[in-house]
Amino acid sequence: MIPQLRAPATARSSDRPRRRRTAAAVALAVALPLGAAAPAAADANFPSTEGRTSTSSLLTPDDVVRELQQLERTSRHGVDAFTLAEAGMAVSTSEQGRDLWVATVGTGPEHVWLQGRIHGNEPYGTDALLSLLKDLGSNGSAEYELLREKFTFHVIPMYNPDGAEANIRHTVLWDQVSGAPEGGTPQRIDLNRDWTAEGFAADESRAFYEYWTTVDPDWGVDIHHQGLKQQHGTGDDVTLSLGISLAPGGPTLPGLQDGAYDRLTRQMNVHVYDELSKYGSINIDRYQVGGSYEIDIKGGVVSAMMLGLDHDGLNPEGHSHPVVFFETSGNSSDGSLGQKARGKSVQQNVLALKALLLGLATGDVQQEDPERWDEIPHAPVTGYQTDYAGIVPAG
Ligand SMILES: [Zn+2]
Repeated sequence: MIPQLRAPATARSSDRPRRRRTAAAVALAVALPLGAAAPAAADANFPSTEGRTSTSSLLTPDDVVRELQQLERTSRHGVDAFTLAEAGMAVSTSEQGRDLWVATVGTGPEHVWLQGRIHGNEPYGTDALLSLLKDLGSNGSAEYELLREKFTFHVIPMYNPDGAEANIRHTVLWDQVSGAPEGGTPQRIDLNRDWTAEGFAADESRAFYEYWTTVDPDWGVDIHHQGLKQQHGTGDDVTLSLGISLAPGGPTLPGLQDGAYDRLTRQMNVHVYDELSKYGSINIDRYQVGGSYEIDIKGGVVSAMMLGLDHDGLNPEGHSHPVVFFETSGNSSDGSLGQKARGKSVQQNVLALKALLLGLATGDVQQEDPERWDEIPHAPVTGYQTDYAGIVPAG
């Protein structure tokens, strides 16, 4: 694809409109302590290969808009839900013209970017982020007070509404005038390979990239799903893999910010691993591909965030920040989400997000031993799967 170029930075207003702050409506909310979920017994159906995933319970783009608007109305602590058109982005909708939504909450000086469902057939990042947003908006406990004081959250529950609607990983380049795929033949774009130095193929990428440059986040989390997987060594079913899209100790990450992101991303995932190890229904390992490869992709959205991608002069200072990703096992297009596993699959992401955010707020994350990344179960690393040089052997 030839990336379409927007107007150069000099043509943009340097004083982009910031969002209004809506007053929070009053609501009564029951404050639940963090980690109130009791450890549940392991479930053989979690996840499932039986192909009986019910897609009727998956949230649609319309569901997300309704939920966000309700949270804006009812949250006690100022949830602000808005479209990227309202936020003044030059490109502001999906390829098929759907609105792209963000919700903010919190008043803290550090900005946190939380995104889900960039792959349309990976649904539960949406559910998990809406659940977290509800708590951030209304939970009165000291822990949530701390999170709101320390951070301003930018929550993107559904990065890829077209793919969600179609139950596919990608978005399809779309001609909105003819109402058909651009060029006649559907061209599927993986939005998580589309933040490249050469530009962006899809409107979703242009829109969220520009918003990212207006936020300049300090931290980020990206929520995905993966295929069914067993833990190396034990053979136990994995429910959640912890990932870093530029491999720690790999070809790229150690060279960024004098190694700070190589250290911080390990610490972030080590902290999540420790905090979630007490839950019997959650079985964690490290995200790997092809059995024994670490991923090292530069065009992945959160990789580009760590690399400080400057496109069209929108990020001239090269702002960057550490990001990790979570991978729940199973996805909706394979029918492998498990028939009854939805609650637990969503909840493990909520618990992981809360553990990570509280750890960052208290400084516990920054105290973790980054070398303990090696203690999280994984296969011996034989190489790096890259989007710039194929497989790069390890060592
Ligand atoms: Zn994914």
